[in-house]
Amino acid sequence: MSSEGLRAPRQIRVVFLGVMLLLAATLGWLGWRLLQQDQQLLGQRLAERREIAADLTVAGLEKRLSSVEHDLSQVLVAGEAPKMPAEADAVLVKFLPTGIRVWPQHRLVYYPELPEAPEAPATLFLATDELEFKKTDYSGAIAALREPANSTDPKVRAAALVRIARNCLKNGQVQESLKTYEQLASLGPVPVGGMPAGLVAKAGALAAFEQQKDQAALTRTALALDRDLQSGHWPITAATYHYLAELAGRWARDTEVNPAPRVALAEGVEWLWDRWRATRDRTTSAGGRTSFDTPSGPVLLVWRFSGNTMAGFAAGADYLANQWLANMKPLLDSQGVRLALTTPDGRPVLGSAPGADAHPSIRLSSATQLPWTVQVFNTSDSQGAFRSRRGLLIAGMCVLLALILTGGWFVGRSVERELAVARLQSDFVSAVSHEFRTPLTTLCQLSELLRRGRVASEQDRQQYYELLHKESDGLRRLVEGLLNFGRLQAGQMPYRFEKLDAAALVRRSVAEFEQGQQAPKHRFEVETAAEPAAVHADPEALRCVFWNLFENAVKYSPDCDTVWVELARNGRHIEIAVRDRGVGIPPSEQRRIFERFVRGSAARESNVRGTGIGLAMARQIVRAHGGDITVESEPGKGSTFRVLLPVSTERKFTTDEHG
Ligand code: ADP
Repeated sequence: MSSEGLRAPRQIRVVFLGVMLLLAATLGWLGWRLLQQDQQLLGQRLAERREIAADLTVAGLEKRLSSVEHDLSQVLVAGEAPKMPAEADAVLVKFLPTGIRVWPQHRLVYYPELPEAPEAPATLFLATDELEFKKTDYSGAIAALREPANSTDPKVRAAALVRIARNCLKNGQVQESLKTYEQLASLGPVPVGGMPAGLVAKAGALAAFEQQKDQAALTRTALALDRDLQSGHWPITAATYHYLAELAGRWARDTEVNPAPRVALAEGVEWLWDRWRATRDRTTSAGGRTSFDTPSGPVLLVWRFSGNTMAGFAAGADYLANQWLANMKPLLDSQGVRLALTTPDGRPVLGSAPGADAHPSIRLSSATQLPWTVQVFNTSDSQGAFRSRRGLLIAGMCVLLALILTGGWFVGRSVERELAVARLQSDFVSAVSHEFRTPLTTLCQLSELLRRGRVASEQDRQQYYELLHKESDGLRRLVEGLLNFGRLQAGQMPYRFEKLDAAALVRRSVAEFEQGQQAPKHRFEVETAAEPAAVHADPEALRCVFWNLFENAVKYSPDCDTVWVELARNGRHIEIAVRDRGVGIPPSEQRRIFERFVRGSAARESNVRGTGIGLAMARQIVRAHGGDITVESEPGKGSTFRVLLPVSTERKFTTDEHG
């Protein structure tokens, strides 16, 4: 291929690479835009889900609250409360001028006010006791109390028993004191010093065990006291509860019951009570709802007035989560959203508030009239769908890009090849023109001389005729060769196969070639096997192959005037080798010289005439005979072309030396 022939493909390659890069960049940009749009779309879809979930939640909570308000109205009218879940963390109360009613019973661990006013301060029984018994020996005091201790009035009896027990303790009679506290405990809710006797007895027993330093008994009693307090069975006030709870907590650190939710409920009820008492003109206020924040947790409070009566509802966060929102959870989960309730001033009630980047949908308390601000935000799972879709899109883009690049590479290669062939063809046309021009010029000049009669002698004339014949014969062969090449390319070469002796054909071809040679003449040394080499072949086609090889051997060995032609049997093949000691062929060209229009670099540089179709034709003909043609060559040392033809097994064949 000429250097010019290389330039065009290089330009094409650069343009093609540019187009490919442009295509890849466009694809990348499109993919990126697609991803962005996808993300935007997903953002919209997630926002829609949040909005719907937020609206549903608000509607659900509003429904529940309305239902509670309806229940409260019923309580005010009928005086009976609807059934409350036994284990739930909620309570219904009704405040009347005559007292408090609570549903379910024993839900409150303390009450805002007791039905009866306390007789004395709660700490009475632990304070330094009655004035008249301030002496070292308490026996007299104890004896003096024996009579009231047997009284039929439980209050008198309880007060006496407390004093006896305390004085026994001071007197060092611990067992006696404990026994007395046991008697006191049996009086149960009878108030003594503003507290139920049962609780006073347990607190007193703790003092006795403390004096005894009986740690096991202390813990046991403290736990029992705590259980008593949490059971809500005792009519006590907040002060008493906290005092006793602190006392129990001092000796039993790990209390079995978690008092927080119940204390929160009691605190909430106390707040309602205060409100009931504070609202003088109850006709102007029908009721309300709020989220009340206590040290033990947030409490929902709903209340309703009717005259001077109030019905209230208090519920902890667990109640909201398990009773009100539990049936909404599957829906929220399926939408990939989570919920957080906060008080209007931002303190958490339920669920943890989302981070700054969560973009929650918010329903403010002021807009919804709910006692909470509702926040709905997407869970991280909902982003997962986008991530997997993005992965799929990127993979698709990569596959598309790979397809485009592969396709581009194939197209580029084909274009490059076509261009190379086109370049070779144009080289071929100029080579053929060149081949024609030289003999035609000779023919023109000789015929001109003969026409004008400018020939000196008869001998010269004869010589001119000879030359005219040779040149026109050369032209004929050239034209025939081109015609044959055309037929071969079109697959229309009419082969006439017959069984013949290849050795005879080789000898005859050499002889004819030698005869047709122009000066300087090359010598052919032919060596053939003695026995006939039978092949099934078209003699004309094979002669064409041999002539090409002989011509090349002569053309490309300007410094050696001998060409060796050898024929031998090689297994199941007849091998005809044409050897010269010419310019040789570089290894990089040895495969390509058999392709059409391809000429070797040495041939082009040394201006040896040729068209680049001889070896292509030779290979096509030999392969049509079931054989092959190979080359062994070393630049500067010469080349050997070998034609391999299968041995014919037919019996009858032509041995005619002269064709
Ligand atoms: P051309 O008309 O150029 O001879 P061919 O098809 O016959 O075309 O040969 C192709 C190329 O192979 C030649 O251009 C030449 O470079 C190389 N070639 C063929 N025969 C020989 C040889 N005997 N010695 C060196 N080079 C050869």
